[in-house]
Amino acid sequence: MPGFEVLDKSELKEIQDIFENGSILFRHGFDEKRNNCFKVKEFENNFAKRMKTDYALAVSSGTAALRVALAALNIGPGDEVITQSFTFVATVEAIIESGATPICADIDNTLNMCWQSLISKITPKTKAIIVVHMLGMPANLEKISKICSDNNIFLIEDTAWGCGGYLKEKPLGTWGDIGTFSFDFAKTITTGEGGMLVCKSKDIYSKASAWHDHGHENNPKYPRWEDSRSSSGFNFRMSELQGAVGIAQLKKLDEIVSKQRKNKSILWNKIKGINGIEARETPFGAYETSDALVFLVQSNYLARKCRKELISKGLNTKILPEAYSWHFAGEWNHMKELVGSNEKNLKLTYQKSHEILSRAVAIPIYLKMDSEYPTQLFKAISIALEEDK
Ligand SMILES: *Cc1c(COP(=O)(O)O)cnc(C)c1O
Repeated sequence: MPGFEVLDKSELKEIQDIFENGSILFRHGFDEKRNNCFKVKEFENNFAKRMKTDYALAVSSGTAALRVALAALNIGPGDEVITQSFTFVATVEAIIESGATPICADIDNTLNMCWQSLISKITPKTKAIIVVHMLGMPANLEKISKICSDNNIFLIEDTAWGCGGYLKEKPLGTWGDIGTFSFDFAKTITTGEGGMLVCKSKDIYSKASAWHDHGHENNPKYPRWEDSRSSSGFNFRMSELQGAVGIAQLKKLDEIVSKQRKNKSILWNKIKGINGIEARETPFGAYETSDALVFLVQSNYLARKCRKELISKGLNTKILPEAYSWHFAGEWNHMKELVGSNEKNLKLTYQKSHEILSRAVAIPIYLKMDSEYPTQLFKAISIALEEDK
């Protein structure tokens, strides 16, 4: 799960560096005072390099990254954007904020976007697709990116949970026109709050960069207060404090992911033989971040029973089944924009997703795993699934 487990003096050292070099907490300007200390810029450069791309833009959150992505692609009222029924509310909220109409496709047994369902939702108004790598598992990008290019639709990857993962050795977030990342406190690397966009082209990057900063083009010919602009925008800037933490966290990313993968595989090997457990499907060529260990059982009753047994042993689940209502579009009757784009009751609209998700259990993966944990997990799940046979 999280970068917060490995916060140490290295993050502090990066922050101290700011205070030893003029204490400039703003990403722009004050050149004469800061001794060339630009933490957000450095974080962006390092991130771009790690993701093998040329354009990275840091922003204030993962939700902001999604909102900026839609603005950079000129998406707004009258457009439809398709995402998936299993995601965090933020993905749909960003679409609503842009003025576009949110549409959700069903998921399949990868618990990510089902490409057949996606095709059925495309209309002449579809401008973009936001595919989500839920709980660190790569989506079926080969199929979905082809559908996007065949239909002339933009592809955005919500990589909030997929930072450090790959599909066929290509970093998640770099398959689409834009990849968005979150560094909130529960994510693979964290800056407290924060986010990033990686962009396929300079044009998209420039639009995103200006829009996240009130339209500022950061024209080197002018001081900031006389800067050029060609659109309005908003303020979704990252602060230097977050940038500093990000630099130190990014250096730990590969180690975090490989440790998570190792711990997940220990846990999975321990429980996979239990009767009634079905693995989450993995797309070919996936290098997942192993943020969580997800499996299916035979009913919602049993999924809840797994959680109950875990809790009685002082353990926990992550999102599934307990936080289903924050991550499944079938429960979002409070979003009138989403209700409005479906003629039916939301739960009926996403029946197929509901059938899968209601049987899913997700176990959090920690870097610092107690040596007793695999056995405790095995016992809890065995008890939950055995008794009712
Ligand atoms: C965490 C998350 C976000 C939002 O990121 P914040 O940084 O918390 O705003 C968006 N999408 C998904 C799938 C997430 O998990």
